[in-house]
Amino acid sequence: MRFISTRGGAGASGAEAVVRGMAEDGGLYVPETIPAVGREELCSMLEMSYPERAAFILGKYFDEYPEDELLEALTDAYAKFEGEDPVPLVKIEEGLYLLELFHGPTCAFKDIALTVLPYLLRKGCDLIGVRSEVLVLAATSGDTGKAAMEGFKDAKGVKIAVFYPDEGVSKMQKLQMATQEGENVDVVAVKGNFDDCQNAVKKIFRSQECRDKLKEKGVVLSSANSINVGRLVPQIAYYFSAYLDLVSSEQIAMGDRVDFAVPAGNFGNILAAYYAKRMGLPVGALVCASNRNNVLSDFMQKGIYDRKRPFYKTMSPSMDILVSSNLERLIFELSGRDAPLTVERMKSLAQTGRYSLRPEELQALQETFFGGYAGEDETVECIYEFFEEFNYPLDTHTGVAMHVARQYARKREDDPSAEPRPMVVVCTASPYKFPQAVYYALTGNDVKDSFKGIKRINLITAMKVPESLKELRYKQPRFKTLVAPDKIFEEVLNFAG
Ligand SMILES: *Cc1c(COP(=O)(O)O)cnc(C)c1O
Repeated sequence: MRFISTRGGAGASGAEAVVRGMAEDGGLYVPETIPAVGREELCSMLEMSYPERAAFILGKYFDEYPEDELLEALTDAYAKFEGEDPVPLVKIEEGLYLLELFHGPTCAFKDIALTVLPYLLRKGCDLIGVRSEVLVLAATSGDTGKAAMEGFKDAKGVKIAVFYPDEGVSKMQKLQMATQEGENVDVVAVKGNFDDCQNAVKKIFRSQECRDKLKEKGVVLSSANSINVGRLVPQIAYYFSAYLDLVSSEQIAMGDRVDFAVPAGNFGNILAAYYAKRMGLPVGALVCASNRNNVLSDFMQKGIYDRKRPFYKTMSPSMDILVSSNLERLIFELSGRDAPLTVERMKSLAQTGRYSLRPEELQALQETFFGGYAGEDETVECIYEFFEEFNYPLDTHTGVAMHVARQYARKREDDPSAEPRPMVVVCTASPYKFPQAVYYALTGNDVKDSFKGIKRINLITAMKVPESLKELRYKQPRFKTLVAPDKIFEEVLNFAG
């Protein structure tokens, strides 16, 4: 499978796309053609284990990777997850399901792709003959950085530097990153918010001067951010798997359509659902949930992307984003793969902070997507009510998604022509990862310390505490660097050696 750039520049093989992270013209790689999964293939996936299902999907995109190796890498990756099934589907009531994606090493959905990315990258280097050291850069709103470092720690020939907004991640996320082990990792707090962080890192990728300076040191750059196709493709697999689980447990018949609700930030997770649909998975609507930073829900309702607005810090920090990078891929598809128009829009976004869709593009968008948002109070309310009703503690990000899923359900109830469809809400983090906010939402009480929060949530819920969070309490922070966004490249150069 070849990959092309959303901005019309040079294409790449799968391995090249993974190693480069983003296209040299500043665009994002998308598959030249979206591979199809036919009904027969879908049926044949019913019997497969999760790693086999994932290998089947990955094989469609990364066909130059040896199949047996892909399967082995995926099997190893998901063996690091707690419990039998790495992506369990939980039935809440008739027609409502939760897809738990937080059983990996860092308790958030990003583990699903980031436990596999190291293999895709290392093997990718072999396949295209890159012999220099690879330096992986990641801007993180809290979850990517930790998951990427866990995946890459002590990997040969790879170094990883992670940048997070100093005031923009939860205490637990900060502690997870600051205590990271491994000789090849660097963790840097950045003054500013996530968009400042992501922007500064993207600038390094786009700068030939930066690349040349690193080349002198024998280092090539790669990205662990969700713009990397090596992040995107493994995420497609769990939408297939959730669907197949609904069929095998006789909740639906093969061919019935299912809706998914996804808490969105950089638009990577929900974009994978869109690809699953385009590949032929019977998906109805994709419910795109934002928190108070509701730039995506406005975009889906009005067709205007406008990042010029106040930035709020919320209790769902991994969604505190105003420039959703992966949206570039969706607007490229909506435009009928018009690269010059995509370039123009991205330029307009950079210069004026906004761009708009044509009416027929907005219509196509709304045929699949429903955008909504939950404010802070609504999120708390939703987590509280959901717990009262079903005894299940949602994390703050998933609380946002549940609120918007309910908005969508009400809209469908008002529409006499809408046939009922099952809804799968994607759970992106363990409630124990945001214990203070979740405890407050569940009980109305504050708790001073994250670990106390964990204990108390555990006392009132039936959910097991993930081992990796328990251990965190006894680890010493190793990283304390704090820099301004314009000093990030200096830090990168120093770390490169
Ligand atoms: C990253 C993240 C999100 C947002 O996912 P995107 O792919 O960036 O849209 C939502 N919830 C959690 C817990 C996350 O870590």
